[in-house]
Amino acid sequence: MKVYQEKEVWFVTGSQHLYGEEVLKTVAQHSQLIAESLDADNRMPCKITFKEVVTTPDSIFEVCSAANHDANCIGLVLWMHTFSPAKMWIRGLNALNKPFCHLHTQFNRDIPWGTIDMDFMNLNQSAHGGREFGHICARLGIERKVIVGHWEQDDVRDDLSKWIRVAATWAEFQGMKVVRFGDNMRQVSVTCGDKVEAEIVLGVSVNTHGIGDLVGVINDVAKSEIDDLVATYATEYDLAPELGIQGDRHESLREAAKIELGLRHFLKQGDFAAYTDTFEDLHGMKQLPGLPTQRLMADGYGFGAEGDWKHAALLRAVKYMALGNDKGTSFMEDYTYHLDPAGPRCLGSHMLEICPSIAESKPKCEIHPLGIGGKEDPVRLVFDGKSGPAINVSLVDMGTRFRLLVNNVEAMKPNEDLPNLPVARVLWDVKPSLKDGAAAWILAGGAHHTAFSYSVTAEDMADFAEMAGIELLVIDENTDLRSFKQEMRWNEATYGLRGI
Ligand code: MN
Repeated sequence: MKVYQEKEVWFVTGSQHLYGEEVLKTVAQHSQLIAESLDADNRMPCKITFKEVVTTPDSIFEVCSAANHDANCIGLVLWMHTFSPAKMWIRGLNALNKPFCHLHTQFNRDIPWGTIDMDFMNLNQSAHGGREFGHICARLGIERKVIVGHWEQDDVRDDLSKWIRVAATWAEFQGMKVVRFGDNMRQVSVTCGDKVEAEIVLGVSVNTHGIGDLVGVINDVAKSEIDDLVATYATEYDLAPELGIQGDRHESLREAAKIELGLRHFLKQGDFAAYTDTFEDLHGMKQLPGLPTQRLMADGYGFGAEGDWKHAALLRAVKYMALGNDKGTSFMEDYTYHLDPAGPRCLGSHMLEICPSIAESKPKCEIHPLGIGGKEDPVRLVFDGKSGPAINVSLVDMGTRFRLLVNNVEAMKPNEDLPNLPVARVLWDVKPSLKDGAAAWILAGGAHHTAFSYSVTAEDMADFAEMAGIELLVIDENTDLRSFKQEMRWNEATYGLRGI
């Protein structure tokens, strides 16, 4: 079963008529074989379908138009088995509004040294056919993925599979709905932004509901539903005794379940894939949603605290990219530092809302006071995050464009136990170092909120930024502050010239 069940990538091969029917028949057979072999690979997260060998401007335009209008087609793999004069591709590529990957491969892996002749050479021309195709893409200024290597190689298949995940996510973004319960936190800059521009550039629609609309749904939740969910909590988490059925704070757990069920109903009814809330607008709610939001994130919903709709949408995107294969992905905030020169670290957390998909072991379900928001004590899951390489990614509105900012980090066990910290957390080492990594992040205007993931990589986010046509900055092992500043200055000029 494919991860993105109904989605499809179309495999299209470029050629021309010069070679005659026999050669074109072989080209089609090879294409079919490659597409079927890729499709049969479990790594591929959606179906890969061979469409046709295109040899004329009209057939190219037709297949591109058909891709545009096919709701299940998330993108194309284009391969130039032979030489395909690329002026033929102009009209089709100009019309195409789905992402594509240029697979620069050839049918045979090795040169058949002893038997190679001109017939073989004429059939297997990817090496220069791919260059002709690349030229027209560059001339048209089209962002696309180029994957080079033999189609049976693991690295080629891994690259393709990751690109398909990004393309599926881009398709998911088109028309995706984010609901904000209340506005963003008063006076906060980075959680603000241009929602109209987000819909134009990213395809995501962001709209607000008053908290009363949600409270109405929460108040309609049936008692039997709450009973069932509370029983689920008891099996999935280490429940604090005071929250247990005999505990004196059991009612608070029931209240959390009621909020979770109300949120689920509201999101489902409105077909929302992500949401925000804010502790400044909880009128009619008894608790700030902690446990409910943690569990909704674990089920794939995007979430942004304090009205941060950009990170709600981004988290949904990152989770969708990792679908079916997620090592852990959460809403995150750079919370506090450990500035010991021997090992500077950042502790990531939030007031409550960290996704249990990043938990190292079975989360504890606890209740503690929250000194902000003026509501009853919220129930929450408490745990340490896993160790391993991860990214923090942030989407910010620079006024003239969206900027996607990625930082590679290495998550690790906390130096010591944290017995008094009543929230989920994860400790990480910033790349290239806390000193330069944090400086670069701050110079780039990156948010304090991020999507944190062990599954999605900087390269995936780069592919995503290219599909969206937005700016990307990566802070990684190779980041040098002077070059990074120059890159930002060049980007200012680039995006000014492009009028974005
Ligand atoms: Mn926050």
